[in-house]
Formats: sequence, structure tokens, C-alpha cells
Amino acid sequence: METKQNLTIKIVRELLAHNFSVLLYNTEKLEDNCGGWCWIDDDENKREFAVAMKHHMGFEILIHEYCHFLQWKTDRKFWDSTLKTYDTLFDWIADPNLETSEDDLQQSLKDIISIEHDCEKRVFKMIKNNPIEDFDTDKYIRAVNAYIWSYHINKDLRKRPLNPIYSERVLPHMPNSFNENVLYYLDKNNLSSDIRDALLVEYQENSIGS
Ligand SMILES: [Zn+2]
Repeated sequence: METKQNLTIKIVRELLAHNFSVLLYNTEKLEDNCGGWCWIDDDENKREFAVAMKHHMGFEILIHEYCHFLQWKTDRKFWDSTLKTYDTLFDWIADPNLETSEDDLQQSLKDIISIEHDCEKRVFKMIKNNPIEDFDTDKYIRAVNAYIWSYHINKDLRKRPLNPIYSERVLPHMPNSFNENVLYYLDKNNLSSDIRDALLVEYQENSIGS
């Protein structure tokens, strides 16, 4: 059994050994209302790992981002292939005047969900092989569902959520099971209206963040 603190230290050491800047912010969210990132641009010689540690799921975000690092480290072909189109959706969201074909948006959405789903499978494998003290797996699974499904809504609304999507008011409405097959999450027909309605709260301007 591993403690959260020990695992955090091990992860930071490993990232530093791989020349990452490790930015553990004492905040609830980062820019663009996200909880963290693992950003690698070897052309620019930049490797950055950031987490909003004061988020109520700060440790879980750290584990998630670490598994992106593992994707990059152990499956570079997959990592590179999905990153090619990863920005298409978010550039289109950020710039209302940008014209992007539906095919390109669909490809981007598919790539994003594929890399995120693979990342979550790594998280579940890691916590199974190396259990973490006081890790709330039920909460994590609900957050994963919120996170993966939110990409469909990002595309539908051409908008990002205003808060990290796995908020305390969203989680009780999320499924507490994870589907190992990425095709399940790629099919928008599996996004129920209950899940959708719960997630939409985090896209509304007048709502108070949690
Ligand atoms: Zn991710």
C-alpha cells in the first residue's frame, strides 16, 4: 500500500529525471479552467507537467497526468499519432471565426477520447497493481465519466466548461462504472440525457463553481 504523499514524491522525481518542469500550483484550477496538463514539445525543448493541487481531486489529476507521461514514455507511436489532431477541436472552440470541417472535428474528438480513455486504463491498472491509501476509486470512476463525456459536449456547444468538469455537484450524477472499450465513449448515443444535463451545469455562465 502506497501513500498519496510518497507516490507524489516518486512521480515528481521521475518527471524531473525526464527533464520536465513540474508545476504543482496551490490553486483550484489552471488556465482554460482545466485541472492539469502534461505538455511535451521537444521541438521547442519544453516538457511541462502542471496540476492544480488545491482542486478537490488534485491528487487524482496528478495521477491522470502522470499516466499521460507514461503514454509518452512507453507508447510514443500512439502518443504522437493522437497529438497530431488533438488541437483541432480546441483551436476551433477558442476562435469563433475559425472554419474547420466536420470530418476534422470528428477525427480530433475521436483522437482526444482515445488518448484520454487509454490514459484512464493506465490509471486503473496502476492503482490495481499498486494500491494507494485512501484512494476513492468510486469517485475517480465518476470523474472519468464526466471528463470523457464532456468532450462530446465541448464539440456540440463549441465551448469548454467553465470549471474542471468533475465538480462535486456533477459527480453524484455520473455512472460508477468504467467501460474498458473506447468505442462505448466514442458513440454519442451512449451519452444519456441524465449525464448530459448534469454536465451542462458546468458550461453555464451564471452557475457558481465548486
Ligand atoms: Zn488527460
